[in-house]
Amino acid sequence: MRNLNRRQFIKSGSGLAAAITLGSGSASLLSKSLKKTNSIKMIGIQIGAPSFVDEGVEACLDTIQKRACVNTLFAMVYSYKEGLSGRAWPPVDHGRQQPRPKFHGGYYATLHPKYYRETLFKDNIQVVRAPDEGDFDLLASVIPAARKRGIKTIPFLADQIHEDIPQFEQMAEWDLHNRKLSRVCFNNPHFRSYLLAMVEDCVRSYEIDGLLWRSERWGALSNALSLSRGAGAVKNTEIACFCPYCLEKGKKQGINVERAREGYRVLEDYAAAARAGRRPIDGYYVTFWRILLRYPEILAWDMSWYDSLREIYKTVYAKAKSIKPDLPVGWALPHTVSFNPFYRAIADLQELAKYSNFIKIIAYHNDGGPRCAKYVDALHNTYLQDLSRDEALAFEYRIMGFSEGGYDEIHANGLSSDYVYRETKVWVAGAMGTPLQIWPGIDVDVSPGENDPPRSREGVRDAVLAAFRANAPGMILARMYSEMTLDHLSGAGDAIRQLGLV
Ligand SMILES: [Zn+2]
Repeated sequence: MRNLNRRQFIKSGSGLAAAITLGSGSASLLSKSLKKTNSIKMIGIQIGAPSFVDEGVEACLDTIQKRACVNTLFAMVYSYKEGLSGRAWPPVDHGRQQPRPKFHGGYYATLHPKYYRETLFKDNIQVVRAPDEGDFDLLASVIPAARKRGIKTIPFLADQIHEDIPQFEQMAEWDLHNRKLSRVCFNNPHFRSYLLAMVEDCVRSYEIDGLLWRSERWGALSNALSLSRGAGAVKNTEIACFCPYCLEKGKKQGINVERAREGYRVLEDYAAAARAGRRPIDGYYVTFWRILLRYPEILAWDMSWYDSLREIYKTVYAKAKSIKPDLPVGWALPHTVSFNPFYRAIADLQELAKYSNFIKIIAYHNDGGPRCAKYVDALHNTYLQDLSRDEALAFEYRIMGFSEGGYDEIHANGLSSDYVYRETKVWVAGAMGTPLQIWPGIDVDVSPGENDPPRSREGVRDAVLAAFRANAPGMILARMYSEMTLDHLSGAGDAIRQLGLV
């Protein structure tokens, strides 16, 4: 299974030979074809403020240019996630080598209060300024230096607000039982005005080359089944959102919101019983369908959540374009789109292309193994419990269009570059006929842990080769430069030079 990078493939776009192999001699054929048919490929990297502070702006840019031929920075301007805008621990072979300071996160550039007058932050927008790196302004410090080198800068904004911030509670999602969750509601007008103010601030205040907004969450149905996480027996499934704004919107859409709530209660009980191994008389799968048929409001409520997400996409896109019409605007999708057919079903690229210039998908080969295994655990804990775990994994591979090793193997070794190829190819095909660009995220030491799959320079190289072999117009090295070992980062450069892209 793991030698599939030599497999035959058919190129769907123009210019390449109909079928070639990616063996020792074929990379040059691919290289010639890429040169002939493509303009400059976007070679991106996710990088946060700590790296520039620890290593210096010029030194960082030197490293990523030399080792990985990067031409676009995805600068972590707004995030409360240490895995995006923090430091790795234990440290890798660059950056700060002492124990890392306590992480907080927030906005890593200068906030201009005049944009926030209509928001809950009208008197104290500085509360979202990240305190971690002092006065360091990520965009002001990096954009001029990057531009001199021909490197673009695209701010990366996440859909988060820290729970400790007083205004957060007024923007929170509510779960099925009216408990406030630690995440914001897309239908909350306070959150929307705050997000749009931040977009305006970012777009107007800096000479940026694009804007990326990220939301790695999913709707109530996937919450209820804990899809993508593989929940244990009694974990709070955080089925959301049932806040007053969502209820009001649902009613206006003609959804019977009380039936939706009741349906999710039944589904929650079903999932809890399934995780406890209490098999319904008619089996897990049939009973799951009985609930969906009895409560069609479950699906309507789930779709409403995704529609709200798409409304956010549309409004962010419109706001940014109203200021700079040519600014590329796009989104980062969660890894669950690789595994979760419900999320994949709503990710209709022909629709998204109307208000998206680019989309980052996650095609992490290493970390994808344990993540896929966890997803299969979630399936096997609930509606696919009638199958064996290996059968559930086989079902997953078949319906989602990739084929890898057994459960234990992907846990231990991750996924192969063939997964990167197949995943990229299907998304690129989905966007065919539109100008929408698909940029796969490439795993360079994502979230390393003790029992994680082995990582290597060659693995990164093969993943990058696979992404371009699938005709991606660009790719993003992820998750963050501060956790990438330099040798593994060089694997990206190996691939790019092999393909003659520089
Ligand atoms: Zn809500």
